[in-house]
Amino acid sequence: MKASKGEIDSEDEGSVDFGSGFDCPMWDGVFNYAACIAGATMTACDELCRGLADIVINWTGEWHHAHRDKASGYCYVNDIVLGILVLRKKFDRILYIDLDVHHGDGVQEAFETTKRVFTLSFHQYEPGFYPGSGGCEDCGFATGKGYAVNFPFKSGITGSQFVTYFKRITTLIIKTYKPQVCVIQCGGDVIAGDPLGGSNLYPKDLIECIQIVMQHNLPLILLGGGGYNFANTSRYWTEITAAVCQQELSDDIPDENDFFLEFGPDYTIQIEKRRMEDFNTEEYLDGCVNKIEENLKKYDVGSF
Ligand SMILES: [Zn+2]
Repeated sequence: MKASKGEIDSEDEGSVDFGSGFDCPMWDGVFNYAACIAGATMTACDELCRGLADIVINWTGEWHHAHRDKASGYCYVNDIVLGILVLRKKFDRILYIDLDVHHGDGVQEAFETTKRVFTLSFHQYEPGFYPGSGGCEDCGFATGKGYAVNFPFKSGITGSQFVTYFKRITTLIIKTYKPQVCVIQCGGDVIAGDPLGGSNLYPKDLIECIQIVMQHNLPLILLGGGGYNFANTSRYWTEITAAVCQQELSDDIPDENDFFLEFGPDYTIQIEKRRMEDFNTEEYLDGCVNKIEENLKKYDVGSF
């Protein structure tokens, strides 16, 4: 395919090896863009290490699919991994929670042989759904065995199901692992109406999950992630920011912004409820949790 203006030909030598092309095209300025994203997350983690804040937010980037030497799934560099490495200078037990609708494969891969970083990913998991990894039996390797947990749900999961299982799993992990700091990836593609996702979740459900973590008074970093319904992703991240800062939001979207028309037809912060078929059964979700609980015991998580 011929590269368009400003875009480097994705069939150039080396593009296959390094993941450039397809969903990670090369373009003039991509290095500076990736460096800014990585720098923002690393700066956020550094602020927390220096005790300058209890909670730091960076809604840009959060490229959880990028691998050590390969771009993947719209992610050019894994800023989350680089940020966690900054946190490691101060903290010995780091909990990473991934709320994006896709498995946080790049972050798990980076830390799946260590006990120092516990990765916990909640994501849709069905045949053909990207990236295809993250089943509940997938729990890390070697010395890190047991220190990766995946909760793979099917499409149509509802808020009451998600919050119930999130609370059960996350509370158990925090109690068992005793993390000193927590990083949460808040991908907006988990919100109902996302063109790439398939969940029936709304900002209030995910905010309830974040507040469950906040009750443990850990230093916290909140990061963005995917989100392909841009108006809803903006609504979601705005609502999280307000909740964390304990601010009330007006229902109406302010009209003095360049993207006002994107929020039609109702121009409010609310996301329209959708009817969706739920493919999750209690039996299936309970089976996942039972496997997770069994692994936590089997690998004696938190005993180091
Ligand atoms: Zn995603």
